[in-house]
Amino acid sequence: NKQKPTLLVTGGAGFIGANYINYYLEKYPNMQLINLDKLTYAGSRTNLQALESLENYYFIQGDIADEKLVNTIFSMFNVSGVIHFAAESHVDRSIKNAKEFVKTNTLGTMILLQAARSAWEKEGTLTKKRFHHISTDEVYGSLGEDGKFHEETPYDPRNPYSASKASANMLVKSFGHTYGMNVVISSSSNNYGPKQHEEKLIPTIISNALRGEEIPIYGDGQNIRDWLYVEDHCRALDTIYHYGKAFETYNIGGGNEKVNMDIAVKICEILDHMQAVKTPRSLDSFKNLITFTTDRKGHDRRYAVDDTKLRESLGWKPIESLESGLKKTIDWYVAQWDQTLQKSRL
Ligand code: NAD
Repeated sequence: NKQKPTLLVTGGAGFIGANYINYYLEKYPNMQLINLDKLTYAGSRTNLQALESLENYYFIQGDIADEKLVNTIFSMFNVSGVIHFAAESHVDRSIKNAKEFVKTNTLGTMILLQAARSAWEKEGTLTKKRFHHISTDEVYGSLGEDGKFHEETPYDPRNPYSASKASANMLVKSFGHTYGMNVVISSSSNNYGPKQHEEKLIPTIISNALRGEEIPIYGDGQNIRDWLYVEDHCRALDTIYHYGKAFETYNIGGGNEKVNMDIAVKICEILDHMQAVKTPRSLDSFKNLITFTTDRKGHDRRYAVDDTKLRESLGWKPIESLESGLKKTIDWYVAQWDQTLQKSRL
């Protein structure tokens, strides 16, 4: 239905986007949604398989940096708001080749902003319809042992990924300031949960453990990240999209600061306690697979966000503990692994 108000989600075949779309359509089964995703190596339609037959869900394979396509979507549909996840998201890849990061994360964001502005200005809805940009705490740089990032912390990106995201944030702010567009930014800490690409830390730990292969940990394993369960992030986004104030930024944290080594050990302990895990080789303990590797170039030492603003002004807080979130995540990867084993036996 082209007339019906429709939420435009970008990057919905990726990790957080797919979790968000599943969450959104379950919570609002009568709403209509378009998922615009390029399906890079990081996107997968199997993340959204259950939704493909729904009449209120449209999938469009395409690039957010394709101006003609993005404008066509705005002219064909009654886009009621945008939630913008699409990005190149892996720091290591940005260190090897920054170009795609600037193209998608920075230029792509500008093209979306421009298309939304032009369509909504014509309708006279520019100050009403929301453009929600999904960002990261990495734009704030790296912390020492103390302190946390606040919404007012100056941007200090330290790798090409975070630089491209910080540039996108600034463009979003500028569209709010210059044109009065109803923009909002949320900056979250590291997410974990089902459907994440294997290249990221927690899926790498789980997948390598299941294959009985070395679990690589950068440097001394003492880098600190704050872990946010993806479903808690989705609830926060829903709250911010509907109730967040225009032109504001909201930080979203998990309240789970951990050094990488502790995360690896914790996952191995959970796997050790699971009776049904089948690996290609027998192991006394998964922990013996942990191996230190050469550190990432310019590796940020510690990230932690202060999300008091979101908690106090909009009443959100995370529900999942690290223990329960990791168990759910591991269960999902073990189920995938079992399916892979079954297929390889056919
Ligand atoms: P992801 O890499 O899993 O998914 C990104 C998705 O965007 C993929 O489906 C990919 O196909 C799509 N995409 C990439 N380039 C595109 C383009 N040019 N046009 C259209 N689609 C394109 O990423 P994620 O982990 O789900 O992250 C989603 C968003 O959240 C990103 O903006 C990221 O910066 C932000 N974020 C992620 C985390 C995290 O821990 N994963 C934390 C904070 C913020």
